[in-house]
Amino acid sequence: MLHIIDAFSRIGEENAFAVLARATELQRQGRDIINLGIGQPDFRTPENIVEAAIKALRDGHHGYTPATGILPLREAVSADLKKRFNVDVSPELVMIVPGGKVTMFMAILMFGEPGAEILYPDPGFPIYRSMIEFTGAKAVPVPIREENGFAFSADETLALITPKTRLLIINSPANPTGGVTPKSEIDKLVKGLERFPDVAIMSDEIYAQMTYDGEIHQTLLAYPEIRDRLILLDGWSKTYAMTGWRMGYSVWPKPLYDAARKLAVNSFSCVNASAQYAGLEALTGPQDAVHAMVAEFDRRRKVVVEGLNKLPGVSAATPKGAFYAFPNISKTGWRAKPLASALLEEAGVATIGGPDFGVYGEGFIRLSYANSTENILRALERIENFLNEHSQK
Ligand code: PLP
Repeated sequence: MLHIIDAFSRIGEENAFAVLARATELQRQGRDIINLGIGQPDFRTPENIVEAAIKALRDGHHGYTPATGILPLREAVSADLKKRFNVDVSPELVMIVPGGKVTMFMAILMFGEPGAEILYPDPGFPIYRSMIEFTGAKAVPVPIREENGFAFSADETLALITPKTRLLIINSPANPTGGVTPKSEIDKLVKGLERFPDVAIMSDEIYAQMTYDGEIHQTLLAYPEIRDRLILLDGWSKTYAMTGWRMGYSVWPKPLYDAARKLAVNSFSCVNASAQYAGLEALTGPQDAVHAMVAEFDRRRKVVVEGLNKLPGVSAATPKGAFYAFPNISKTGWRAKPLASALLEEAGVATIGGPDFGVYGEGFIRLSYANSTENILRALERIENFLNEHSQK
C-alpha cells in the first residue's frame, strides 16, 4: 500500500484544462466546438522571438544556465520594468522561472503551513487556493465584487488580515473577471498594510500590459514602503503569446531570494536555455506585435460585451483588462456550472463556470475572447439560441 501524503487530498486544479480536454474530445467526435474556455492568446509567438530561440539552439546554448536565469535576461527584465513603470529593480532580485505559475507555487510554499492564513482573490485564479490548501494553511477568500467593477476593495482586504495572516495575494488586471483595480484603491491598500509589517504580498501582474479604455496598470513595485516584502509575478505567456514556452519571472525581496533560488535548484534547475534567449528577444526586440495583439483584443472585447448584454437574462460589465468577460447569468435561471456544461454539450461553446474560480463566482461564467471575432459572434448566436430555448430552467 502506497502512502501518499495527506496534502494531496487537498490539492485542486484548473477546470479550464478539463474543459479543454472535453472540448477536444467533442471535436474529435466531429462536433463543431467554439472554444472560449481556455485562457491563452490565439496568436502565434512573434517570429523574431521564435527565430531567437532557433538561433540560441544553433549557437550551442544546450546546457544548464544559472538556476536564477541568464544574466542578460535578468538585466532585460530590470530594464523593461524601468521602461514600463520607471522603477529600479536590481537584476539580482529577478528570477527566471518556468511560467508565471511557478512564482505563486514558490511564494505559497514559503508562507503556507498549518496555522497560517493566506488571503487570495475570489473569484480568482484557481491555483492560489489549491496551493494554499495543499500547504495546510487556511485559504481566506477576499471577495471580488461585480458592483465594484471587479476591482478589489482595500478596506475589505485589510479587514480580513489577522495575526495569523502571512501572505496576501492580489491580482490586477484580473483573471477571470477582467477587473482592473484603480491606483487610488492600491494606494489605500499599501497605506493600510503599513499596520501589518509581517504580511508578505504577492502581486500577480501577468496581465499588466493588457488594459483598455485608457486604464493604467498600477504596479505594486512602485511603492518603496512595501518592497522589502513584495513578490512580483509576471511572465511572457500572455503578453507575447508564449504560454507553451513556460517562461515567467519573479521579483523577490532580498531576504526571500535565496529561498526561491533553492526551490529552483531543488526542482527545475533552470529554465530551458533557448527559451530564455527567446524571452530576451521578446523584451529587447520590437514591441509592435504586443500592441497589435492588445488592439485586437480590445476590438473583440467590445464585440463580446455588446453581444453578451443583448442575451436574455445576461448582463456583462465591461472588462478593463486581460482577455476575459465575466457576465452575470443569474437572471437566466441557470446556475453557472450547469449552464457552462450545457453550453458545451448542447450548444458547442466552451466557457468556464464562475464557481471554478471560487465560491463568489456563482452567478457568472467566464468567456475568453482570445478567439476570432467571427467565432465570438457565432458563439454569441449559439448562446442566444440556447437561452431562448431553455430560459425557464
Ligand atoms: N496568473 C494568472 C492570473 C493567470 O491567469 C495565469 C494563467 O492563466 C497565470 C498566472 C499562469 O501563467 P503561466 O501560464 O505563465 O504559468
